[in-house]
Amino acid sequence: MAKPKVGFYWNASCGGCEEAVVDLAEDILTVVEAVDIVFWPVAMDFKKKDVQAMKDGEIAVTFVNGAVRTSEQKEMAELLRKKSGLIVAFGSCAHIGGIPGLANFWDKETIFERVYKEIPIVDNPKGVVPLPKSKVNGYELTLPEFFDTVYTLDQVIDVDYYLPGCAPPPDLIMNAVTAILKGELPEKGTVLTPDKALCDTCPLNDSKPEKLAISEVKRISEVKSDPEKCFLAEGIICMGPATRSGCGERCINANMPCRGCFGPTKAVKDQGAKFLSAFASLIDSDDEEEIKKLMDSVLDPAGLFYMYSLPKSILQRRKMEANNG
Ligand code: SF4
Ligand code: SF4
Repeated sequence: MAKPKVGFYWNASCGGCEEAVVDLAEDILTVVEAVDIVFWPVAMDFKKKDVQAMKDGEIAVTFVNGAVRTSEQKEMAELLRKKSGLIVAFGSCAHIGGIPGLANFWDKETIFERVYKEIPIVDNPKGVVPLPKSKVNGYELTLPEFFDTVYTLDQVIDVDYYLPGCAPPPDLIMNAVTAILKGELPEKGTVLTPDKALCDTCPLNDSKPEKLAISEVKRISEVKSDPEKCFLAEGIICMGPATRSGCGERCINANMPCRGCFGPTKAVKDQGAKFLSAFASLIDSDDEEEIKKLMDSVLDPAGLFYMYSLPKSILQRRKMEANNG
């Protein structure tokens, strides 16, 4: 019997999701035995034209990691959608925008200005920036267009399932692969992890405070935190109240606060707003000055509360004066 065909693709991401597949260790042999990998540019020499030559829906499932921030990524996402029965948004960036999504606090112009002209190590006296078309020695060179906005995968194509995390843990990947191979999939659109907040499964939950009796918020690097105590009780921002469980509390177990990479639970539309509301409800003061002082001690609240989820949030991006895409 022919094995189901499977593809992997990498859009705007750090490459950690590709590492996560390799981290399956010996389980990868089970996957390779059960499926026929027909597209995986980072590891195998398949070309775009090989995918173009396939019949529509020929690939049983493609795991696409990374957000979409260039015209090439959009084109590949659309091609893979056409050729795949199922598309799984793999990892935080495809799911909710991830770290690349923080670029939505700026636009193409401000990013290019900073990256190609302003930063001290750049030596670019002519102020050259990448252009979709440029002439070099009489030849025309083309580059993908860089969008103003970073998109989640489902803002560009229809997505069937989501595997969250930066990167998704191996056990969740194997559960998803097994469910796909057995045809035991939940309702379309499901995020393939428990729909519970991380605090509900956190080993430090018993020490989570009803009210925050602190006057300032500190960074993890500024205090010697107690590994037995909830981070919030120590005045360290932990996104656990607004984040979906399923990661095995990886950061908490390494004595680091959660940064929200699994995204919110199903009932929550906006992870950053949910955290802000959870945090505000913990503040034990009616004194406006005191509350202001506490909030002022949170460095970069927008970057912190939306560290992974800005493109998927209600705001999606910062409004710039001229913003065209
Ligand atoms: S806020 Fe963080 S440390 Fe505290 S219970 Fe929730 S996940 Fe655990
Ligand atoms: S603790 Fe939070 S940031 Fe860390 S892996 Fe889990 S969901 Fe992601």
